[in-house]
Amino acid sequence: MIVIGAGVLGLCTAAELAVRGHAVTILDPGAPNASSIAAGMIAPALESLLEDLPPERATLLKRARDLWPAFAETHALRLLREGADWRGPEPERAVARLKTLGFDARTDRGGLTTTADWRIEVGPTLKALARAPGLVVVKGEIARLTGDALRWRVEASDGRVWFTPTVVLATGAGDPIAGLPDAVAASVAAILPIRGQLTFVATPPPPRVIRGPGIYAAPCDGGVVIGATMEPGRRDLDPDPVEAARQVAAGLALLDATGEAGVTRVGIRGATADGLPLAGPTGEPGLYLALAPRRNGWLMGPLVARITADGIEGRPPVADAAALDPLRFA
Ligand SMILES: Cc1cc2nc3c(=O)[nH]c(=O)nc-3n(C[C@H](O)[C@H](O)[C@H](O)COP(=O)(O)OP(=O)(O)OC[C@H]3O[C@@H](n4cnc5c(N)ncnc54)[C@H](O)[C@@H]3O)c2cc1C
Repeated sequence: MIVIGAGVLGLCTAAELAVRGHAVTILDPGAPNASSIAAGMIAPALESLLEDLPPERATLLKRARDLWPAFAETHALRLLREGADWRGPEPERAVARLKTLGFDARTDRGGLTTTADWRIEVGPTLKALARAPGLVVVKGEIARLTGDALRWRVEASDGRVWFTPTVVLATGAGDPIAGLPDAVAASVAAILPIRGQLTFVATPPPPRVIRGPGIYAAPCDGGVVIGATMEPGRRDLDPDPVEAARQVAAGLALLDATGEAGVTRVGIRGATADGLPLAGPTGEPGLYLALAPRRNGWLMGPLVARITADGIEGRPPVADAAALDPLRFA
């Protein structure tokens, strides 16, 4: 089977299929993507708080997080269960809200701390997933995807061709690939791009992610990444230096530290109308989606992988599959 796109959703899905015994080829141009520049937060608690999510959505994010320990163990990934801090107004109210949503939290140093949010190092994790036994990563951009009831013809822009009965589209916020069935192309075209920018700062990393109004500082090798913008409708990848300077100043103030600004990176997230990914069967034989997790692609990776792999194997769907059903907007 073929997975198109080696972001977190494509790689998690391909690795899940590989450990279930399938031979998987994953095709991707190999350039940086949203997944490789992300902060790596697995943050159901603070995402639910900051996005003011309803209880059922917070619970879904928590269940998605709870798939991480077994997934990390299976694929020998380093899961950092450090918790996270939040600094901002009305911390008592925020703690009460988190507790209502089922997350532990307590007030701490003019804000709150929770053990419910975790983290992953994105670079090493993507590399480890790409090395999963049974998985082959091939460089290539797919220009055309056509199929009948028996097989899919996958054609790269350089003319190479693969045939397969099963394709997973994990192309992020990319445009629909030519040749897709109309309904699937329409679902892909409806994905909203959301530009995100973050900046590396060399400074002693804090013990866990620290978040505040409109800003976060996430530990990484040699410092922190400070981010991130949410710019709906934008796909341009050039860093904005004015925004980078604002981020660095706000992030260092949050950390109460000094540091030296480094590289600024930009990635494009894909989002559906309800903010949840598209994961599973499309209704077209052998064609599956693993797309559009908005700002929670790392959090949702193992859940999207499980739902998509279950769909491919014809297993009964897990309860959350309905919320991520690619056909829910049809
Ligand atoms: C600044 C920033 C910070 C973030 N921080 C976090 C965070 O802390 N926690 C979290 O959970 N999420 C975070 N996110 C969101 C997360 O990064 C995204 O939700 C996630 O990376 C999306 O993964 P994806 O696999 O869908 O897409 P992508 O990572 O974009 O991967 C899609 C891949 O498909 C490939 N592709 C596209 N078209 C084709 C084609 N025709 N042929 C072959 N390959 C193709 C692309 O080249 C790309 O490699 C952040 C995002 C940004 C931008």
